[in-house]
Amino acid sequence: MMDICILGSGVAGSTIANLLSKKHSVHVFDKARGPGGRSSNKRFKTNLSFDHGVQYISPKSKAFIKFTEKLFKKRILKTWNGNHLDFTFEKTWDRYFISGSATVMSLKGTYEGGVDSRSGQNDYGITEAYDHPESDFYNYGLLPNHRDFKANVFGGYDITDNISFGYSFRYESARYYSCQGALPTYYRTDGPTGGLPSTFYGNGFSYNFCHGNIVPRGQAFKGDELYSLDTSFNFKIDDSSFIQINMFNPFNLKGVDQYQNTGEVSAGEVWERYQQPLSYVSPRQIVLEYVKTF
Ligand SMILES: Cc1cc2nc3c(=O)[nH]c(=O)nc-3n(C[C@H](O)[C@H](O)[C@H](O)COP(=O)(O)OP(=O)(O)OC[C@H]3O[C@@H](n4cnc5c(N)ncnc54)[C@H](O)[C@@H]3O)c2cc1C
Repeated sequence: MMDICILGSGVAGSTIANLLSKKHSVHVFDKARGPGGRSSNKRFKTNLSFDHGVQYISPKSKAFIKFTEKLFKKRILKTWNGNHLDFTFEKTWDRYFISGSATVMSLKGTYEGGVDSRSGQNDYGITEAYDHPESDFYNYGLLPNHRDFKANVFGGYDITDNISFGYSFRYESARYYSCQGALPTYYRTDGPTGGLPSTFYGNGFSYNFCHGNIVPRGQAFKGDELYSLDTSFNFKIDDSSFIQINMFNPFNLKGVDQYQNTGEVSAGEVWERYQQPLSYVSPRQIVLEYVKTF
């Protein structure tokens, strides 16, 4: 048995401590006032608290699903049945299988997670959402991850004992975009809150106002419906090696993945890049793999 010291009691530190404590003596130190790191819940007033980071988890790997089952039994976790409907199907025949799902949802709110992807923030540490109340004006609406409808189908077929074919098809309906711009002077000085403290976010262009108008979150324009198809052929050479040909987007389906939703970069003027594509779906690609296991 060893004496082990772990710095940090977030998900990572706690998981390691839990595993090591079965065989060793473990001490966990955290520089914060309480345990949990970015998965902790902060008490605000006597009966009021909020999730500081993690609100929900989406386990994918078998090992993690198994781990969460224990937490369900102990009533530490419970299922979140948000506002969505999922239909799934799966069917297997001798040489063929098909599986898929369709989702209808309504994902609304003022907060998409640790970042605000509309204004290009991708670092949990720099989002202005916590510090600047003016970011919340007209902020309730369809979130960037909302799609009215999503569906996917994937399957495989064993053409012979050594050759198989697989495919995956996905469809998602359009994303609802915002138009973000400057905060009009009225909201800085008077406005619904009777003016703002001197800490407002300055001259940023990430408010739910555009060209001087109120544009509530997600109500500016819609993006593209997106389709994607990937296929693969697998040729088994022997028990320890195979060749695989992956064809991503074989029909070269086109579509804009993301549009610019900053509407102005100088107050009152339409920015020429507003509603322009930021990224496209990946074009056709063929990847040849040879895999040998030792
Ligand atoms: C706003 C927000 C929302 C999020 N929402 C989700 C979500 O819905 N679903 C999801 O799956 N994930 C979400 N995440 C991500 C998730 O919170 C993190 O990935 C996860 O909690 C990280 O765990 P960790 O153990 O790696 O790090 P942390 O939780 O950051 O733990 C690190 C710990 O180490 C301590 N520490 C650091 N330095 C020292 C030191 N020198 N000495 C002692 N202690 C130290 C810290 O105080 C902290 O407690 C969100 C994150 C944020 C910020």
